[in-house]
Amino acid sequence: MKVTTIINGNVVKDSQIFPADLVIEDGVISEIRQPSFGKKRGAIIDAAGLLVLPGAIDIHFHCRAPAYPERGDFATETRAAAAGGVTTVFEMPISKPGTSTVEVFERRRALGELEAYVNFGLYAAPARLNPWHIEKMVEAGAIGFKTFLTAAPEGRADEFEGLCAVTDDALYQLLELIKPYEHPAVFHAESNSLLDWFEKRAGGKRVRTLEEHALVRPAVVESAAIAMLIALVMDTGRGVHVAHLSTAEGVAFIGDAQRRGLPVTAEVCPQYLLFTASALGDVGPFGKVNPPIRNSRHQDALWMGLREGIINVIASDHSPFALAEKEETWNDLRFAPPGIASIDVFYPLILDMALRGRFSIAQAVQLVSTRPAMMYKLFPHKGIIQVGADADLVLFDPQGTTVVDRRNWQSRAAPCDRLFSGMELRGRLRQTMVRGEVVFRDGEVVGRRGGGHFVRPQSDEVMEGTVPQVYENPRAGST
Ligand SMILES: [Zn+2]
Repeated sequence: MKVTTIINGNVVKDSQIFPADLVIEDGVISEIRQPSFGKKRGAIIDAAGLLVLPGAIDIHFHCRAPAYPERGDFATETRAAAAGGVTTVFEMPISKPGTSTVEVFERRRALGELEAYVNFGLYAAPARLNPWHIEKMVEAGAIGFKTFLTAAPEGRADEFEGLCAVTDDALYQLLELIKPYEHPAVFHAESNSLLDWFEKRAGGKRVRTLEEHALVRPAVVESAAIAMLIALVMDTGRGVHVAHLSTAEGVAFIGDAQRRGLPVTAEVCPQYLLFTASALGDVGPFGKVNPPIRNSRHQDALWMGLREGIINVIASDHSPFALAEKEETWNDLRFAPPGIASIDVFYPLILDMALRGRFSIAQAVQLVSTRPAMMYKLFPHKGIIQVGADADLVLFDPQGTTVVDRRNWQSRAAPCDRLFSGMELRGRLRQTMVRGEVVFRDGEVVGRRGGGHFVRPQSDEVMEGTVPQVYENPRAGST
C-alpha cells in the first residue's frame, strides 16, 4: 500500500479552513487529523503555510485529440491542466470525427487512458438524434451531453458531426431523447438564424477588432437562444446547462427560470469575468471566442450572476489552436478560429479573484470543484476533502505571487496567449496531486502520461464517513 502524509497544511472544507494533517492510502484520503497528532506515515509532504484544496474539475475543456495534434493532444493539454491545478477535465466532443457515436467515444476513452496526466471524463454528443448511440455512450460512461445550437463553422463539418441541433424542432426532439438520463446537458446557446442574419446584414465587411466581433455577434444572439432553451425546458421538463454565459440578458433569463423552479444552470469563464473587448486592445484573433467577450455592462451582470448563485460553476473553455491558424487571420477575424488557451493558469486565476475579495476561498472551491462534482455525480469521491474521497488535491501558497508567462505553459497553444501573460496574480500554486500522486510541483510537471483515470458518473450512494466533522479518524477507538 502506498501511503503519503501531508503535514502542517490548512485544509479547506465546506466553509472552514483549519490546520490538519491528511493521510492518503492508495490514492484515497484515509484520515484527517489534528496537526502532529499520531505517527507520520509513509512519504511526508510538508505543507506549512499552504492551503490544501480539492483539485479543480473543469467541466468545459477541449483538446480535440486525436485530430489536430498541432493544436494540442490529451498529453500536452492535460499536462497544462496539472500545472493549472485542474485534476479532472471533461473533454468536449469536438474532434474528427465528433464524439457522437459509441465507437468514437470508446476510441477517445482509450486514447485518454493512454495519454492523460489528470483524470478525464468525456461528453457525448446526442444531436444525431439516434437513441441507440445515446444509450450506448451513456453505458460507456459519458459524463454529460454537449450540443451546439449553431451550425458547424465553415470547413469544420466533420468535427461537428452530431454536435449541432440548429432548428427548434431538432432541439425539442433532442431534449425528449435525453430526458431519461440525469446527465447534465450542456448547450452552446447562440441562435443560428440570428447569427446568419447579422452576418449578412454586415454585408461581408471585414472584422478587425474584438469590439467589431461583438457587434456582428450581438447579445441578442445568445439571449434569444437561451430564451428558446428555457421555453423547451418548461415544456419537456428536461434540465439544461448553459455553457460560457456572456450576456446580461442571459443572466436575467436564467435567474428568472431558476426562480420558477426550472432545472437551468449556467457557467461562466474567466475571460468573460476579467476582460472587456475594449480593454483588451489590439489582440485580434488571439482574443476571439464565441460568444464574444463583451462590454462592462455584461461583465458586471456576470459578476452579479455569480454573487446571486444564478451562475453555478466557473469553467475554462480551454480551447487550443495552432499559432499559425490565429496569426493568418489578423486581417479579418471572421476567419479566426474561436477559442483561447487558459488551463495552465485556471485555478490560480480563480484563487486570485478570491484573494482580491471577489468571493471567499471556500466559494472559489465551490465554483470550480464541489459544484461540478455534485452536478456530474462525482461527489463525494471528488469535489471535497474528506475521508474516503480521492486525493485529488492542490497545495496553494496564498502569500506567494505569480506572474503569468506563457513561456512557462505546458499547453501546445501557449504561444497564442495574449490575454493572461503579464498578469500578476496573488498566490502561487505549489503542487497538484491526482489520486495521491504528485503530478505538478513548483513549476514542473512530474506526473505520468496515462496517470489520469477515466471518470464516469457515480451512483447516488452515500459514502461511509461523510459525517460533517472537522477531524476524521476512522481508526479512533480501535487502537
Ligand atoms: Zn467550448
